[in-house]
Amino acid sequence: MFIPDIEKRSPEEIKIYQEKRLRELLPYLQENSTFYRDHFKKNHINIGDIKTLEDLAGIPVTTKDDLQNRNDDFLCVGRNKIVDYVTTSGTLGEPVTFAMTDNDLERLAYNEYISFSCAGVTEEDTFQLMVTMDKRFMAGLAYYLGLRKLGAGIIRVGPGLQELQFESIKRYHPTGLVTVPSFIPKLIDYAEKNGIDYKNSGIKKAVCIGEPIRNNDFTLNTLGKKITDKWDIKLYSTYASTEMGTAFTECDAGRGGHHHPEMIIVEFLDENNNPVKEGEPGEVTITTLGVEAMPLLRFKTGDICYHHTEPCSCGRNTIRLGPVIGRKQQMLKFKGTTLFPPAIYDVLNEIECIENYVIEVYTNDLGTDEILVRAGCRDNAHVGKKTIKDHFRAKLRVAPEIEFYAPKDILKMQFPADNRKPITFIDKRKEKP
Ligand SMILES: [Zn+2]
Repeated sequence: MFIPDIEKRSPEEIKIYQEKRLRELLPYLQENSTFYRDHFKKNHINIGDIKTLEDLAGIPVTTKDDLQNRNDDFLCVGRNKIVDYVTTSGTLGEPVTFAMTDNDLERLAYNEYISFSCAGVTEEDTFQLMVTMDKRFMAGLAYYLGLRKLGAGIIRVGPGLQELQFESIKRYHPTGLVTVPSFIPKLIDYAEKNGIDYKNSGIKKAVCIGEPIRNNDFTLNTLGKKITDKWDIKLYSTYASTEMGTAFTECDAGRGGHHHPEMIIVEFLDENNNPVKEGEPGEVTITTLGVEAMPLLRFKTGDICYHHTEPCSCGRNTIRLGPVIGRKQQMLKFKGTTLFPPAIYDVLNEIECIENYVIEVYTNDLGTDEILVRAGCRDNAHVGKKTIKDHFRAKLRVAPEIEFYAPKDILKMQFPADNRKPITFIDKRKEKP
């Protein structure tokens, strides 16, 4: 299994290494990025003064709104150097474009190569990709490039299509899956209904993207348990985003996603952009290393999580990120309790008869947050609102309002127009955090 040398070094050596890379990045931004040249000037930053990771705190953060409002000004190369265009949903509706050069694609391949290695994947493995490869997504492409660099086999099936997934598993005998974890119970359901012996299919592991599979103490959450109770496969969580162009993937220890110091500098900040201590939730704030077309400096991702610094049993000394507990903009103040939607999803996933759901939040007459869960239930399988509310109170101390619908009607709410991803959270609040 490949572990880059730097990841086994001491935290002090890793810090020195990152500071050297930071001092290379700043002149590159000054010279090539219109946005950062303006940013340094406006904030009276002399980049020569920024030498350590602590000095970095002197540079104001970059926000999603900056990226949206001045998208083109982030581009550091000419159009003729761009190989691939990726988009990500912006804060103001319009998509934000991320252009990538040939070197950026190579960096992306390396990132997934070391991430899959971290999850114990070798050239002996064959992975079935249950993710979108096109539609201007970065993720599917990144997994493909990384597995290819690793020398593993790849089967590009794409998302959904249970029948084709199993036909492909039967034909090519993959050893692993890359998928959103909530798709796995759907696969199991399909297999059970159609008499497919999924337990002896040869699948040993799944790299789980986009949704958490663990609680903050690293035990499996409801979704994680739901999968492994039925199917004895090993789950690895991975956390990534287009803006980072980097993944935090778990090793065999399953104790958070490992930071790769050669790819990215990561900070965890509070609401006032001060660093939080270990044991406190903080907003993941990143500075990309080695990105050519659209590097980012102190970019606030909006993702809130805990970080862990003690060395890992796998031999890596890098920081580990716990599951994303929520998005900053989705933070709810509900009946005196601070909540993030994933905690609500976790409770709903535990209730057998609920097939799908949409959560709607709005401002009530008192000016505080109110939560309505629209739940899609299988016919006659209702457990009743009271049971569900009791479940919520037991887990979260508070209970939202519940309304029942047919699953097909929820599906329509989840995919209005041509949405690429299902919508499970609708924010109708007057003021958002
Ligand atoms: Zn580890």
